[in-house]
Amino acid sequence: MAIASVNPTTGSTEMIIEPHTAEEVQARIAEAAEAARLLRGTTFAQRAQWMLAAADILEDQAEGLGELITVEMGKPIAQSIAEVHKCVKAIRFYAAHAEEFLADAPLKDPSSVGASRAWTRYEPLGTVLAVMPWNYPLWQVIRFAAPALMAGNSGLLKHASNVPQAALFLDTLFERAGFPLGSFRTLLIGGTEVAGVLADARVKAVTLTGSEPAGRSVASIAGDHVKKAVLELGGSDPFIVMPSADVAAAAATAVRARISNNGQSCIAGKRFIVHTEVYDAFAAEFVKLMSELSVGDPLNPATQVGPLATLSGRDELAELVEDARALGAQVLTGGVVPEGPGFFYAPTVLAGLSEEMRIIQEETFGPVASLYRAQDREDALRIANQTTFGLSSAVWTADAHEEEWFTANLDAGAVFVNGMTVSHQELPFGGIKRSGFGRELAADGIREFCNLKTVWKA
Ligand code: NAP
Repeated sequence: MAIASVNPTTGSTEMIIEPHTAEEVQARIAEAAEAARLLRGTTFAQRAQWMLAAADILEDQAEGLGELITVEMGKPIAQSIAEVHKCVKAIRFYAAHAEEFLADAPLKDPSSVGASRAWTRYEPLGTVLAVMPWNYPLWQVIRFAAPALMAGNSGLLKHASNVPQAALFLDTLFERAGFPLGSFRTLLIGGTEVAGVLADARVKAVTLTGSEPAGRSVASIAGDHVKKAVLELGGSDPFIVMPSADVAAAAATAVRARISNNGQSCIAGKRFIVHTEVYDAFAAEFVKLMSELSVGDPLNPATQVGPLATLSGRDELAELVEDARALGAQVLTGGVVPEGPGFFYAPTVLAGLSEEMRIIQEETFGPVASLYRAQDREDALRIANQTTFGLSSAVWTADAHEEEWFTANLDAGAVFVNGMTVSHQELPFGGIKRSGFGRELAADGIREFCNLKTVWKA
């Protein structure tokens, strides 16, 4: 795939970028390795100062960066600007808390291991490769880079090929903020070149956010070289509504959960599983709200749903809907590719789904919702857990007992009760099953790319 910025609203190519040559890649790996050596010798206070300068750069440029994101991948402008501010918050969070998250932890009773003192300390691993997706072109990268650099690692970014403008901005951000040359650089390479970079002895670990096939490939290469990997992959999150829930509030939140980022979010509610007692009321409200959404130019502040980021993504989504329709699914609203330029797809609600349809198992990465009628809570849980994914989940109920039962039994990395899943820097983020392994954000995220060293002293 060419490294090119194509405006998904118009379909026009804004920029084509020459990939880095093999020599340029080697030079950047060497710089990153040298930066890792230097960063290891710096204090948390020094790194925090540089981090805070990076946050200021982002904050000062929030409007312009928001526009860059919207033109490059199509999300509504207010969401793009909010993404920049979310990055600022996460950077300031790790600047403030990294030292406390990575503090030495003494064993309370060292005599139990025959020591006068025993403790653990966190040390950086070195250079970490980050393979990142286009859907949150700044946030996905910053939520790795902020903790990784605060821990004293350096980073190399292989960004998605369709967001080179975001990748180029990130290439210089940390250096402009004062970090040593090479602390965080972009590699303009295709997916097939990731194997060579990961094989390099100077690269110590990898994190990948993206699809299951990409994750499988990168994790197996990391395994071949016995290198640490964190995988944040796809999701097909259930959003369960039980009879005791506030159905109108659930329906309104369900729409926001499904269409946020034009429906291209790993943690979006994608499968809406509704108890039969409230199914008709929920479906009526949900379909009405989905059909009323304003679809159009994402630079227009009134637009709620913009285009999908790529033509291939739009075509894959349309194929999933057509497969379901051909096998008997009801299309309650949408289900069409609108006329005109750009990679748009109408907000869509499907019902009457059956096992043979691809949509039962596959991720719908766009504004397409699936409705399921559940007979009771066991049936709701069965449907919720039937996919191979296990990223997040949401359950709407006013019954404390039911809330605890779903929380305990949902196969997911997170459960949001009476709300929609949102990532928060204070909370760990990640999945189970084929949604990946490892955690980002919070204290857990910064510890992923550290050596937890045990020290025992006689
Ligand atoms: P993708 O096609 O897997 O691409 C993600 C990144 O991996 C890109 O940089 C891509 O580079 C690279 N890549 C693709 N195949 C590769 C391979 N075989 N070896 C090495 N690198 C490879 O995913 P996407 O379409 O950009 O993003 C959408 C997916 O990401 C969805 O499944 C979504 O759910 C998931 N996602 C997960 C999370 C999470 O936190 N769990 C967050 C956001 C998105 P090229 O662009 O050059 O191909």
